Amino acid sequence: MPWSEKDLFEVELLEPMVDEPAAHRPRLPGQVTPFAGEALASWLLRYAEPFGIAPDDLLLRNCDIERTIHGDWSRRPHPALIERLAQATGTDPMMVAGLTLWSGDEAADDLRDRFSALRFRAASTMSRRQRRMAVCPHCLAEDATPYVRRDWTVGWTTVCPDHAAVLIGACPECGYRLRMPALSSRDDFAPDRCPRCAFRLGTASPREAHDAVISLHRRLLEARDSGAFMLPGQGAVSWPVALALFDVVLGAVWIDTRLVMRRRLFDRIEGDFGRGSLGNDPTGSYEGLMILAWILEGWPDRVRTAIAIVQGPRLRRQLERWHDLDDGIRQTLLGMLLAIWPDQKHPEDRAWWRAWIDNLPEAGEQLRARAAIDRFPHRRARLLALADVRDGMPIELAAEAAGVMPSTLYIWLKRGAAGGLDSALDRQRGALNQAQAVEIAQWIAEAPTNQPRWRSNRVKNEVLRRFGLEISLEVAARLLRKHGPWVRRRVSAPHRRTHADT
Ligand SMILES: [Zn+2]
Ligand SMILES: [Zn+2]
Repeated sequence: MPWSEKDLFEVELLEPMVDEPAAHRPRLPGQVTPFAGEALASWLLRYAEPFGIAPDDLLLRNCDIERTIHGDWSRRPHPALIERLAQATGTDPMMVAGLTLWSGDEAADDLRDRFSALRFRAASTMSRRQRRMAVCPHCLAEDATPYVRRDWTVGWTTVCPDHAAVLIGACPECGYRLRMPALSSRDDFAPDRCPRCAFRLGTASPREAHDAVISLHRRLLEARDSGAFMLPGQGAVSWPVALALFDVVLGAVWIDTRLVMRRRLFDRIEGDFGRGSLGNDPTGSYEGLMILAWILEGWPDRVRTAIAIVQGPRLRRQLERWHDLDDGIRQTLLGMLLAIWPDQKHPEDRAWWRAWIDNLPEAGEQLRARAAIDRFPHRRARLLALADVRDGMPIELAAEAAGVMPSTLYIWLKRGAAGGLDSALDRQRGALNQAQAVEIAQWIAEAPTNQPRWRSNRVKNEVLRRFGLEISLEVAARLLRKHGPWVRRRVSAPHRRTHADT
C-alpha cells in the first residue's frame, strides 16, 4: 500500500490528552476491511502489515496494553479495547465485536482438540495455547487474500462446512502446529504458508468430512451463538450443560475402557457411517465429534448402547469422574440422564433361556469370529446379537444394536435354548414339517389351470383345515409361487385386481 511520510503523522502512537474530544482523534489511513467470518487477529495483522509495524504498536495505546496482557485479548477483547480498535481503524465497534468469540463459553472454546481422546486420558497435557488454530486448505486456496476465519480459532472446530473438509491443525509437510501469529509480530502475515517450512497450506489435501459430523458441527456453532443446544427428544439444553454432557458421554467411551471394547463400538459406528469413516486411530477431535454425532443421532438409546458396548461403569460413576463440574450442571445432567437411564438392578427371576446363553461353550469373541466367516447375512446378524447377549449386554440394547425388535431377539434366544445354537441361527421355515410340506405342495401342484390362480388365503385355510396349523400369508404365497401350475408372474408386472380374480 503506498503511503507518504505525511500519513505517518496522522498515526498517533502517544498517549492522548485526556479531554481530547473523540471525534477529533486521528484515524489511520488504512482501508483494510474484514472478510466474511474473519478472526479479529487475522484482520489486525492484515491491517498493520502495510505499515510494517506490529498491530499492538500501531493500534493500541500504552493504557490499552495492560488490557492485552491477561487472557485471550484478541478473541475476547475488553469492551474498551473494542472501542479503541474501532476508533483507531475508523470502523463500527459492532463490526469489531463480530470478529471476536464473546458469545460462547470461554473455557470450552479455548481448548484445542476439545473432543479428542487425549483430553479424556491425559487432560493435563492438553494444549491450552490460545493461539492454536486449524485451517481449511480449500478456503485458503480460494482466497484472493488469505485470511483466518474466526471459527478456525474455536478450539473444538474440526471441519469446514463449506468444503466438507476436515480442518488441518498441523503442517502436513513438517508437522508444525499452526497458530495465529502474535499481535506483536512484525512479520508478513501469510496464513496460507507454514511459518516453519513455507509449505503452501492451500495445496494440502484434507480428509473429506462426514455429513453427520458437518451437521453436528453446524448445530454446535449455532448452539454456541444461541446458548441452547437441541437434544433430540429432550428439547433445548443450555450450552454449558450440553458441553458437560458431551464430556460425560465421550469420557464414557475413553476413560478406563479396553481397546477391544472400543473397537466393537467403532465397528458399530462404522457400520452406520460407512467403513473406514472413523479410520484406524479414531482419537482426534474430528473422530470425537463423529462418535458424538452417532450417539446423538440415536439419543437416548445409543448412549446406553455405547456404554454397554464399551462395558463402561454406571451413570453415577461416570458423573463422579468430573470433579470440577458446577453443582447446578451436575444436578441437571443427573436428572436428565437418570430419566433415560435408571439405575439398573438385576431381575430376581432370570429368564429360563438365560442359563443357556450364559453357559454357551462359545464366548462372545468366538461367536463373532463365527459371524465373520458365515455365508448368510441373517446368520451373521444373529451370531452378533447372541455374542452381545453372551457378553452381558441387556436384551434391549443388543436388539437395538442388531436392528431388530427385542421380541425377535427373545425368540432367537428361546429357540436356541430349546434346540441349540443352530436352531437360533436358522430361519424358521413355517410351521409345516417335511411330510406336511410335501402333501400341501402336491395339492397345490394339482390345482386346475383353467381356473383363476389361487390366492394365498386358500392355501392358508387348507393348511389349517388339514393339519390344524397356522402359517403366515407370506409362507402360503411362497408355496403357491413355488409349486403352483400357473405361469409365473413377472415381478415387475402390475397386479390387476378383477372380479374373477377375487
Ligand atoms: Zn473451507
Ligand atoms: Zn511446515
